Amino acid sequence: MSVKPIVLLGDPRLRLKGEPVDSFGKYLHELLDDLTDTMRHAPGVGLAAPQLGVALQACVVEVEGQLHELVNPTIVRSSGDDRDLEGCLSIPGYAAYVTRRERIWVVAQNRLGRRIKVAGVGYLARAMQHEIDHLHGKLYIDYLASLDELISVGASEESAEEQPEGAELPTLVG
Ligand code: ZN
Repeated sequence: MSVKPIVLLGDPRLRLKGEPVDSFGKYLHELLDDLTDTMRHAPGVGLAAPQLGVALQACVVEVEGQLHELVNPTIVRSSGDDRDLEGCLSIPGYAAYVTRRERIWVVAQNRLGRRIKVAGVGYLARAMQHEIDHLHGKLYIDYLASLDELISVGASEESAEEQPEGAELPTLVG
């Protein structure tokens, strides 16, 4: 287990579609442990394998003290809409308002390959959608009509003083 460098916007590895995981052994377990360590160190509420430069369908999400390890996840059902601020560990210093599904149901596998189901609403639903997007090479900025919609959030001492209204933390970052 170790904290790894996070791949940043501009690195083509962030845009690769993750391959399905078909081996549930030591390599996957170390990858999931590295994802969790790196996510917690950042800190963030989620991290996906492509953000560590690994093109595999594996990600972690941790909301309200509950860690979810999602391997080969698929959203099987969703409802409602929810608009809120969202940021990304691969795009440090920025956030933007993104509309997501308010409630989702995910089917995935755990680290042993067993089928699991996770239902999430609000913040957890948003975090899972953000990470599952990463597994398909998709970033939250892809939903914006213009990069002018990006809001600078506390990347430095100076910008922290210029936070616009509505940019109160915690903003989701994953
Ligand atoms: Zn992200």
